[in-house]
Amino acid sequence: MREVRESGRTSVLVIGGGINGISTFRDLALQGIDVVLVERGDFASGTSAASSHMIHGGIRYLENGEFRLVRESVQERNGLLRIAPHYVKPLETTIPIYSTFSGILAAPLRFLTHKSGKPQERGAFLIKVGLMIYDTFSRDGGTVPRHRFLGKKRSLAELPDLDPNIKYTATYYDASMHDPERLALDVLQDGRAAHAGAHALNYVEAIARDGDKVVLRDRESGTEFTVAADVVVNASGPWTDLTNGALGVDTRYMGGTKGSHIVLDHPELLDATRGREIFFEHSDGRIVLIYPLKGRVLVGTTDIDADPGEIAVCTEEEVDYFFDLIHHVFPQIDVSREQIVFRFSGIRPLPRHEDTAPGFVSRDYRIEVDEKGDVPLVSLVGGKWTTFRALGESLANVVLGLLDRTRRVSTAGAPIGGGRDFPRTTKARRIWIEENLTGAGERAGRLLARYGTRAADVWAFISQGEDAPLADGDLSTRELAWMVENEMVARLEDVVMRRTSIAFLGNATSEVLDDVAEAMAPLLGWDRARLDAELDQTRRLLNERHGLVLSSRTRG
Ligand SMILES: Cc1cc2nc3c(=O)[nH]c(=O)nc-3n(C[C@H](O)[C@H](O)[C@H](O)COP(=O)(O)OP(=O)(O)OC[C@H]3O[C@@H](n4cnc5c(N)ncnc54)[C@H](O)[C@@H]3O)c2cc1C
Repeated sequence: MREVRESGRTSVLVIGGGINGISTFRDLALQGIDVVLVERGDFASGTSAASSHMIHGGIRYLENGEFRLVRESVQERNGLLRIAPHYVKPLETTIPIYSTFSGILAAPLRFLTHKSGKPQERGAFLIKVGLMIYDTFSRDGGTVPRHRFLGKKRSLAELPDLDPNIKYTATYYDASMHDPERLALDVLQDGRAAHAGAHALNYVEAIARDGDKVVLRDRESGTEFTVAADVVVNASGPWTDLTNGALGVDTRYMGGTKGSHIVLDHPELLDATRGREIFFEHSDGRIVLIYPLKGRVLVGTTDIDADPGEIAVCTEEEVDYFFDLIHHVFPQIDVSREQIVFRFSGIRPLPRHEDTAPGFVSRDYRIEVDEKGDVPLVSLVGGKWTTFRALGESLANVVLGLLDRTRRVSTAGAPIGGGRDFPRTTKARRIWIEENLTGAGERAGRLLARYGTRAADVWAFISQGEDAPLADGDLSTRELAWMVENEMVARLEDVVMRRTSIAFLGNATSEVLDDVAEAMAPLLGWDRARLDAELDQTRRLLNERHGLVLSSRTRG
């Protein structure tokens, strides 16, 4: 921070530290461009923390005629399975199908118009055609197996808890991303390491423009400073128009929709999924999912027009909707609010969409360049998690063009963070752990899952000092110290929400929060008042945004 404040200038200022700003930052750093990224919260705390945790080709977007996006997404999915295997894993996905032909008439119409009234039920034929196209796009990589179609009897033999009224199931592969916030951090760290002139600041907000300078506010200290840049990139996700407004530029690019999820601690439902994502159409035509993740079940999502000026939360009506959809597919399984351990919600950074139904708004991205001011302002409109690498490259290409610089390297195929030399087989894993995590015992697997091959550095650090377990049963004091020293941790919520899965798993009890905060205090120089303020703020966040009432066992 000090370096950026003192210099007060850079080549490129990226506003927004979600996955797309971060990916652009890394790409530019790899080209040797001086770049500063500012994020008003913690990295990946906006929409990037609210996804369905899928790296997916988006089979459903075929219906909107978005062939370019689906092709790119499938290629990127295959790429991420190779370059980020520590966080991105193949995910077997099953669609339960109730009819043979419905949706066929509506679909070609949507291919042509990009518009639709009400979504319609997708029949087996339509899904089959979609999956054949999907397989074609996947052909290059051979990273995941092709789809298969089963009749009712065999479907129910594989997934006995499914509604017996189904006619078929279609099963194919996409990918899941089990720690999105950590994946974003790995991309960011690679960018920081690539070039001495690449700096990333969390808790710094862009609040105004002053000629060729952007006015920034440090949200920790409340102080303001300016940074001059040759190009400003606005990657504020759903808040892109609001950020442009703060910079004095009136834009109407965005029209985000809210989507929520719940996380259930429900062993029976977990077992019913047999390790697969169940991806299906609810009775209102929306595509929804039930999906095993970290021993919990993720259920989502909704698609409701939203105002980015307001905080998105998962409402009771949405919870009712989720319970209804679980019942639709697994009619024999009961689910209750006591089993919800975490809720989350975010606003998709979609383009303005007028009369198009939310579920059918384009998920593709575009880049807008405004050269009217003192400094070119490049705004990103849209962009999923799945395509972040390609998007970062495209956005960086636009910036390189404006700077009259040329690309040195591509990020395609470049391993990300702890995905470098990641052991992929059980045997390779055993050998890697023996060589790099000596003495870690039963912690070894958890460290490898959390950091990929960066776990070697983490373990070397842990082993060099006194260590004690923390109340969540996973983290330890020394590992926490490593996070604080190396992962730009500023607040308690950074640790419980993003550097670990404590909150997601429903382990953010009062006891755990107290224990983690007490251990953080000396590391960050917090006095009692700051420590109490951190606890209050994190409790409020968990309560207001994630539906948690803190007791000895967190329930939502
Ligand atoms: C319910 C839901 C489910 C989804 N599921 C998937 C999925 O399974 N797979 C997939 O590929 N995609 C999915 N997505 C889409 C994906 O999550 C987003 O498109 C992606 O995370 C957007 O990243 P971003 O970096 O563009 O935006 P964000 O992550 O929102 O980042 C923008 C950042 O800008 C910051 N910011 C705003 N204003 C300022 C300012 N003035 N100064 C500094 N910083 C500022 C914000 O704090 C924010 O962190 C889903 C989205 C939602 C909502």
